[in-house]
Amino acid sequence: MDYLPIFLRVQNRLIVVIGGGEVAARKAELLLKCGACVRLVAPELSTAAQDLLRQHAAAAQMTHLRATFAAPQLEGAALVIAATDSEAVNTQVSDTARARGIPVNVADDADTSDFILPAIVDRAPLIVAVSSAGTAPVLARRVREQIEALLPARLGELARFAGSQRARVTEQLQPALRRPFWERFFGAAANLQRLSGDEAGARGAFASELAAFSGRRDGAGLGEVYLIGAGPGDPDLLTLRALQLLQQADVLLYDRLVSPAILERARREATRIFVGKDVGESTLSQDRINELLIEHARRGLKVARLKGGDPLIFGRGGEEIAALARHGIAVTVVPGITAALGAAAAAQIPLTLRDVSQSVTFAPGHVAVADTLDWPALARSGHTVVFYMAMAQLAGLTARLQRAGAPPERPVALIAQATLPTQRVVHGTLADIAERARTGGLGAPALLFVGEVTRVVQQQALESLEPCLEGVA
Ligand code: SAH
Repeated sequence: MDYLPIFLRVQNRLIVVIGGGEVAARKAELLLKCGACVRLVAPELSTAAQDLLRQHAAAAQMTHLRATFAAPQLEGAALVIAATDSEAVNTQVSDTARARGIPVNVADDADTSDFILPAIVDRAPLIVAVSSAGTAPVLARRVREQIEALLPARLGELARFAGSQRARVTEQLQPALRRPFWERFFGAAANLQRLSGDEAGARGAFASELAAFSGRRDGAGLGEVYLIGAGPGDPDLLTLRALQLLQQADVLLYDRLVSPAILERARREATRIFVGKDVGESTLSQDRINELLIEHARRGLKVARLKGGDPLIFGRGGEEIAALARHGIAVTVVPGITAALGAAAAAQIPLTLRDVSQSVTFAPGHVAVADTLDWPALARSGHTVVFYMAMAQLAGLTARLQRAGAPPERPVALIAQATLPTQRVVHGTLADIAERARTGGLGAPALLFVGEVTRVVQQQALESLEPCLEGVA
């Protein structure tokens, strides 16, 4: 870091601004907002600077020296800002200020500046400052805009309200309870809404929450984790319990496989954290995800951990349960419709069928070339195998089954993006499905169904067509 970000108290301190144009006026306006006394030095003032002077001169917050720059004007200044349109004058101001040990900012010139005025998001008393250290002001401004859009307009009021209650909370709650209390307060969207118009209601709710907390000895048991199966993609396939808990959660941690339509069903104000886990690849490591779950639950928050399909099938849900248990955090597991069940229903493939298939196996397809699976068992006829993570090594997987004794003509179905509007189903055989997938342009996530059951659908479709075909003949 090239700069130290600090927030400086400038109330009633003298800040000298050299320049009288638009830029100088803008800087002066910001300084006045922070309660500084501004001395504007310029032979002439722009209309903006004149307006500002008119508003603040009476209160003696702002004075104007009608003069060109001279060193004595910096006498007593806490900060100096040079904003003239002459580079020579700006440099002269900078040199003079530096010689006197006064921090200086030169508009649009990082080299001659000691400090930068960052792009800010103003929700006073909450302020977000963004700086690119002078390298990319436009980028800093864009980031500022994004944050601006993200933060509720009334956040300042919430911060001010919290500030007014802080002493009371400190007095009434044990130190270990203060943080969980505030986390819950700021996490509860209702508090923000109430403040917009119903301050009395907000105070009442605050008081009763505080009373409830004062009876506690510690924050244990307040936070909890819901390990929720989000199903294969179609939001209508969420369970009722998943929906209920999604409405209660303060924080959502979700994977790549959780569709945007599902996230929309969660509480709008909940913080959303993308942890991007997918087939063998992840944005965050499993350890980091476990840490995040624990961290948020410890703060007393209700954390929804959303996973595609069912959390306990190829989802590492077991590891998350174990990590949370080690830290004494309560977990509720909500089952989800696993991808194989969603896809089977969508493509109308029976997973078991009398006289055709008596059992079904869910297997991981991305380990096709490894020897960890019982390939001869998977290759046997009379049952159905559904391979998850099937795209990564589709050709290796089908070759492996054939080497283990499955006939090349064994029927298979590849189902991608099951239950989503983009769903694709491709039928084929062990011998040709990889090629069909390639020419058909199928992409992950996809499942490979292997077994006679996949032919049954095709046959039924054909049979239902037969009467028509006969009619044609
Ligand atoms: N826990 C999840 C599986 C996670 S492993 C579950 O129970 O469904 C990720 C694999 O799931 C993907 O590689 C793909 O094989 C499968 N999958 C998930 N959603 C899918 C979908 N909508 N369509 C097809 N396959 C899907």
